[in-house]
Amino acid sequence: DDPAPHRAEPLREWRRAPVRAAFAVAVEDGAGDAVRDVPALIGGEAVTTARTIDSVDPGRPDRVVARSASCGASEADAAVAAAAEVAERWRRTPAPERAAVLFRAAAWMRAHRDALAAREVHEAAKPWDQADADVCEAIDFCEYYGREARRLAAGGEVESPPGEHDVLTYEGAGVTAVIAPWNFPLAIPCGMTAAAIAAGNPAVLKPAEQTPGVALAVVEAFAAAGLPDGVLGFLPGRGEEVGARLVEHPDVAVVAFTGSQEVGLALNAAAAVHRPGQRHVKRVIAEMGGKNALVVDADADPDQAVPIAVRSAFGYSGQKCSALSRLIVLDRVWDAVVPRLVDAVRELAVGPAQEMGTQVGPVIEAEAQARLREVVAGAGRHGTVALARDDVPGDGFYVGPTVVTEVDPASPLARDEHFGPVLSVFRAADLDEALALANDTDFALTAGICTRSPSHAARARDELRAGNVYINRDITGAVVGRHPFGGHGLSGVGSKAGGPDHLLRMMNPRASSENT
Ligand code: GLU
Repeated sequence: DDPAPHRAEPLREWRRAPVRAAFAVAVEDGAGDAVRDVPALIGGEAVTTARTIDSVDPGRPDRVVARSASCGASEADAAVAAAAEVAERWRRTPAPERAAVLFRAAAWMRAHRDALAAREVHEAAKPWDQADADVCEAIDFCEYYGREARRLAAGGEVESPPGEHDVLTYEGAGVTAVIAPWNFPLAIPCGMTAAAIAAGNPAVLKPAEQTPGVALAVVEAFAAAGLPDGVLGFLPGRGEEVGARLVEHPDVAVVAFTGSQEVGLALNAAAAVHRPGQRHVKRVIAEMGGKNALVVDADADPDQAVPIAVRSAFGYSGQKCSALSRLIVLDRVWDAVVPRLVDAVRELAVGPAQEMGTQVGPVIEAEAQARLREVVAGAGRHGTVALARDDVPGDGFYVGPTVVTEVDPASPLARDEHFGPVLSVFRAADLDEALALANDTDFALTAGICTRSPSHAARARDELRAGNVYINRDITGAVVGRHPFGGHGLSGVGSKAGGPDHLLRMMNPRASSENT
């Protein structure tokens, strides 16, 4: 039977008291959890390693949340061997069966939704609403790619002249290495893994060192879904040790990565090298950084533009590759927008992610905190520091939300991705200048405009150089199936997560022609 058309998982309605109360219990329960052991998974077996890696609560770094295996080359080789062994069988497993596994994985996550989101609160310091949205997105990826697998099983359209039967089909390309980030600690590892599995590829997932406890839920969900052993490998560890090996492995056919530009480019180069025994050219899907702009047009409604800018820039402390870091305000509305923006940022609730009202939690780790604090300390060299909050908790990796105005467009503040709660604001005389400023970046991930003019909205849609253009809406929070997500330029290669082209990047097209 055909499944119902995909519909995005509805977010929790936080205005309802019972919803808040239930989530508070989940967060409380998570606080009482023992340190979560996170073994590797190789050929269906849990595997521990002599060395381990601890992940901590970024708001209380003395609290260890999870202790994961620290895999290296030998575990990578074993997981790829186990995957290669089942590759043919999984590739030939009919699409409806693959899809059914994904739907059962989604159902498991749905049944454990608050507990999973609470794990994110504790290990990734995601505020409640953002943690919930991340779990919903993970569910959506499974539901969406399951339907995509079924759709693609029908093949592509080709002509058949009289006397000839021509067919175009798609099949899994082979073992897929998935290298995942910490910032969407369930949605992204789950999404990339679900895509591979839907496409007919065994996946070997390396979660981020910072959030193995959350990523373990991918293993739990697919185990509950009855995925055959070997089709999913799980290798917690360090990128240099286990990730690098996966990318170089001759039996890995596809590499799916989300993370920094530096790692993405290195991985692209490593994957391009043909190695002995390798019978394919590796395909890389790499989702890298952004330096994303939002234009506030001369006729924009400040009541709409200011909250859009604040959420886009400071949601999850700006730790999204989609986050707003360059706000471009038309001269005519500067006075109506910028002081209000600064006031709104001054009012953001900064604190532990465990607290219900928190809007901005700590950043992920000490290194990020130190780096970002340096960016803030040096910001006065590149613009006017309108606000640099220092009223943040002393314990934990907090960085005060910061707004810098009249930023020099050539400065590192304007050009480099900082991945934190720092917003640069630029002034533009007219829309031409605003669009030119917005497009003056190496990245091309997200961009947006707040405008009430249909012709300006149309120009922004056509001219903003970004994979995702948003009009009168936050520039973060792409929804699976509605806003296929991903950039070009130096923001990435591959194809849009949560969109109709994605699985094809992980599949081989085959044409067959029969004379009848
Ligand atoms: N898909 C996320 C969004 O639309 C961003 C993903 C990322 O930061 O890698 O906000």
